Amino acid sequence: MRLILLGPPGAGKGTQAQRLVERHRIVQLSTGDMLRAAVAAETEVGLKAKDIMASGGLVPDDVVIGIISDRIEQPDAANGFILDGFPRTVPQAEALDNLLKSKGLKLDAAIELRVNESALLQRVEARVAQMTERGETVRIDDTPEVLSKRLAAYRASTEPLVHYYSEKRKLITIDGMMSIEEVTLEINRVLAAIADSDASATKAVRKSAKKKSPVKRESLVRPAKKAAKKAAKAPVKKAKAAKATGKTVKKAVKKVAKKAVKAPGKSAKAASRGKTAKSAKKTVKKAVSKAKKPAKAVKKTAKKRAKR
Ligand code: ADP
Repeated sequence: MRLILLGPPGAGKGTQAQRLVERHRIVQLSTGDMLRAAVAAETEVGLKAKDIMASGGLVPDDVVIGIISDRIEQPDAANGFILDGFPRTVPQAEALDNLLKSKGLKLDAAIELRVNESALLQRVEARVAQMTERGETVRIDDTPEVLSKRLAAYRASTEPLVHYYSEKRKLITIDGMMSIEEVTLEINRVLAAIADSDASATKAVRKSAKKKSPVKRESLVRPAKKAAKKAAKAPVKKAKAAKATGKTVKKAVKKVAKKAVKAPGKSAKAASRGKTAKSAKKTVKKAVSKAKKPAKAVKKTAKKRAKR
């Protein structure tokens, strides 16, 4: 599994990265940690980065791209990795795309932890207090002044990546204001849905290769997934119509997923009670009827489910 964690300083990237490392047995590659190590070791990179980091600015793209491409080559990253703090700019994201492409690897998801800015200062202050208590060295950029500069750098250079990965259909947005536990659960839930949908898509592709009929990728939300699955299985009369339906269903599913994120804390519980399922059904039904020539199976399933 290859993941990216996006979010401002204090969003909880480090905490969630550690949990993902344990769960998926992948490595965490944190450019911040690597740069701090380089600074401590007074390497050439460290000397270049030291003052920039202390002031809250961004280290030049070529420097971080260099360290990441070296790091990804290491054998321990072969099973997958989670990038924490990289990419931080669009050129870094493009460099990562090229790097992965050249190695024949694909990115599974970019996870954005969305948080209220007002909470960040408090979180960073709490982190400083905990580190001091544990007798650890506090980061010199964890001060209110530098934090505001780091936040400004995030807004200007890193936030555009949310759009970048959304365009590539890789973006997962998680409400980072929930508790650590809830955030972890939500990330795991969405990643499991992705893995699920990838597995069934592969199955469907294999099946359709036999039938020689076009198949589209499934949605990520379970209730809509079934409908899409049926559609993929049903003999598709017109490839164009099916494609249009698939796209619209996907859009609808995205909408539902977004809604779930907007309702912090509620989503998991609501989903288990079937509330999310209900709204997914509705949205899918809407989307399907919007499509000019919907695949019959999608319509049928959506109707059936709405009746229940
Ligand atoms: P945080 O995410 O909490 O802001 P990090 O530990 O990820 O902190 O990074 C600390 C500092 O290291 C950043 O403020 C920046 O100066 C530098 N840095 C880390 N990653 C990158 C990157 N990908 N590109 C440029 N600078 C980086």
